[in-house]
Amino acid sequence: MVEHLWTPWRYQYISNVDKGEVSCVFCAALQKGDDRDVHIVFRGQSAFVILNRYPYNTGHLMIVPYRHIPLLTDATPEELNELMVLVQHSQQVLGEVYQAQGFNLGMNLGRCAGAGIVDHLHMHVLPRWAGDTNFMTVIGDARVLPEDLAVTFEKLQPLFSDFTLPRP
Ligand SMILES: [Zn+2]
Repeated sequence: MVEHLWTPWRYQYISNVDKGEVSCVFCAALQKGDDRDVHIVFRGQSAFVILNRYPYNTGHLMIVPYRHIPLLTDATPEELNELMVLVQHSQQVLGEVYQAQGFNLGMNLGRCAGAGIVDHLHMHVLPRWAGDTNFMTVIGDARVLPEDLAVTFEKLQPLFSDFTLPRP
């Protein structure tokens, strides 16, 4: 298919499907074609930004390379650079929109390290607030109910659509 020429991640995704492997949620989201529906707030050169479908906090983002690669050691310098540039912009946006007071950034590499999606590298960007209850409803003792994802998308997406990746 012609798409392979400009969307190498699709080729990877199709290859996985052909091999009968379980499909990847990130590759599937990229393929869907409706970024609002799958909560992709930004598509860059080599990576994209997507809302976590099961957020720990309101504004929980994930920075994901297009390529279906499992480990940081599989990433190119360009991909690594863009991941961090997008983490930086995410921090900016979450500070602006939600007045985040702190952040947790993290990657779980490998199942034994707690990765939920082991085959496709992703960086979590988790905004934090003192007490972490400013924008959430506390249910029971530790459970929190984040803002509806569609609402979060509408708030964050405009600040990403204006964003231009810096020239390397
Ligand atoms: Zn994937």
